[in-house]
Amino acid sequence: MTNLLTYLQEKRDRSRGTEDLLVIRNLTKIYKRADGGEFLALEDINLTIKENEFVAVIGHSGCGKSTLLKIVAGLEKATYGSVQLQGHEIRKPGADRMMVFQHYSLLPWLTVRQNIRLAVDEVLDYLTPTEKRLIVDEHLAMVNLTAAADKYPDEISGGMKQRVGIARAIAIRPVMLLMDEPFGALDALTRGKLQRQVLDIWDAQQQSVMMITHDVDEALYMADRIVLMTNGPAARIGEILEVPFPRKRNLQELRNTREYYELRNHALNFLDHHFNQED
Ligand code: ADP
Ligand code: MG
Repeated sequence: MTNLLTYLQEKRDRSRGTEDLLVIRNLTKIYKRADGGEFLALEDINLTIKENEFVAVIGHSGCGKSTLLKIVAGLEKATYGSVQLQGHEIRKPGADRMMVFQHYSLLPWLTVRQNIRLAVDEVLDYLTPTEKRLIVDEHLAMVNLTAAADKYPDEISGGMKQRVGIARAIAIRPVMLLMDEPFGALDALTRGKLQRQVLDIWDAQQQSVMMITHDVDEALYMADRIVLMTNGPAARIGEILEVPFPRKRNLQELRNTREYYELRNHALNFLDHHFNQED
């Protein structure tokens, strides 16, 4: 086990750097509608995400955020353009990209532990049962779910379910964590705690993260860069904001700085502007 953890650690250390991890070029997505018509969801998206970078994508409902994430996940196909991870074209889902959905997507007939174990069994199938159990236990502890390990999804709160989803995704050490409004269904208090927890895990594991959100404060607190999308149809990337705040960030302190206030207003004005165009 020690050898395995050392191996995984070394693998991560070797991969640390400023290399481009995900490269999206001239991505356009046209959906076929049920009536035979076509719907241009995304138009000419260009975006590069570096190793260990945390990128938030923000935009109004319906602008194509989930579509973009699903294409990166390999669950949808681009109509035009190319999406490459570590130099390889993404054509289907893979264990190198794990997804955390807004609505928990746990298997209700499996316990918390079994839900995580299932993913470990599928992806890390070369490990011994003992090694697998240690990885599951380690990730249960990471999201503070050890005490709830043998409960079923309908016996735990929304926040806990979302922690299971996160533990399940990170247990198999993907090179990219894809999260679609992961905190959107949670109350404010739970959301704050889980945001902190995800940042701590990200800090320890240094994965690249692409997180969809519609919350400017969440994006400013968590991300290295914020991708601002224009409204659909034919949504594009309007602007990309660098978030200059050093880590570890303290939200209360940040909120009192002028820089935070200005960036927040800039993002909100962008979103307002693109919202009103549609009215
Ligand atoms: P967001 O996540 O930003 O709210 P989505 O990516 O879910 O937006 O959807 C973007 C647009 O594409 C919406 O107008 C939506 O109705 C449309 N859309 C999404 N999925 C499909 C689909 N499978 N077929 C047709 N249209 C779709
Ligand atoms: Mg969505």
